[in-house]
Amino acid sequence: MVLAFASIVISAVFEGGSVGKVEQIGPTHVRCAVKGQADQDNRNRQANWYFFKLTGLPQGKEVRIDLTDLVGEYNFRPGTHAVTPNTRPVFSYDASHWTHFSDGQVSWDEKEVMLTLKFVPAKPVMWISHMEPYTGKHLQSLLALRHPHAIRTAAGRTVRSREIPLITISDNSIAPNAKKVVWLMARQHAWEAGTSWAADGAVRFLLSDDEEASRIRKSTVFMVIPIFDVDGVAEGTVRFNLNGFDNNRNWDTAETRTMPEIFSVRDTLLKWLDAGRRIDVFLAMHNTESADYVEGAVEDERVRPVADALVAALRASTNFHDPKSPRNSMTASMDKGRYTVNQYLYSQRKAAAFLMELMVERHPALGRPRTAHDFSQFGAELAKCLARAAAR
Ligand SMILES: [Zn+2]
Repeated sequence: MVLAFASIVISAVFEGGSVGKVEQIGPTHVRCAVKGQADQDNRNRQANWYFFKLTGLPQGKEVRIDLTDLVGEYNFRPGTHAVTPNTRPVFSYDASHWTHFSDGQVSWDEKEVMLTLKFVPAKPVMWISHMEPYTGKHLQSLLALRHPHAIRTAAGRTVRSREIPLITISDNSIAPNAKKVVWLMARQHAWEAGTSWAADGAVRFLLSDDEEASRIRKSTVFMVIPIFDVDGVAEGTVRFNLNGFDNNRNWDTAETRTMPEIFSVRDTLLKWLDAGRRIDVFLAMHNTESADYVEGAVEDERVRPVADALVAALRASTNFHDPKSPRNSMTASMDKGRYTVNQYLYSQRKAAAFLMELMVERHPALGRPRTAHDFSQFGAELAKCLARAAAR
């Protein structure tokens, strides 16, 4: 017997879009595999970016979407998955305003390792994503901001020869050598859209009419990379560059052909330091499932006070949530080819370089996951905290 029914059509052919194999199980039931991405050796598959459009949604009926094929590896540990029982995807009816699915609309099947969404669509067309996307169009809007104290250059380039944008914010009426320097890097991993929202919030605050922003522009040079993996964000990948290399490992071994992103940005950073310029604080932002933390070479007595000042400022003015920070990033087991950007900058130049993780699951202080607006506000406060840590 052939069952004919109106189909729900799933598409991800747009900037940042991603979906794996799609199967329509019934008129109101679709199974969507999450595409995922593996590294250059076909290891460390991670499947936590999906961003797709649904059309032909039936009206007035409950629709069921299963997200499957979630299992992969992390740091060579098989069986892990970064979509979890606590993942709350977002939906939108215009691809611009997003809402998290509620707890009651989301269920988890541990045996199948599957996240299921059940909801009654309000319109026939909608978009679903792992988190609120921050794509090239958001970046272009940020880069279009004109301000006498902002300069846009490139920090490097990608596999597809896209520019990795760098925004320098500094009040030119004060000599550069009289200022502290902060580097803030977001989105080494394409799925981590929250970090770009935070960088966006930081830049918009630093270029605002706020009195503190004006003071910071006089005291501190900010160098901001809002999207590091520009290719991955455009093409909807997860955590590796288009040749499969992790943009937050490999900092000690990167070469230009396979890892142009790391190679070119590393060159920019080393040239900056070799020209006698300072880096008072370097921070690479990341998203993870269920923890906030800051880590760095905190056993170094020159780094520790910077870390403490940053964490104290974050605790005082943001919802940064980690009693254990700052944590130590310099462990004995750092293998060749596994250095993160902060580990590399510290090991090579003793820079006060840190990594920050920001959780995407339910935040204990908010009682819900952070929205793009939350990340953006966090970024504005983070800029103040970084300026304070640099001035310490
Ligand atoms: Zn990351």
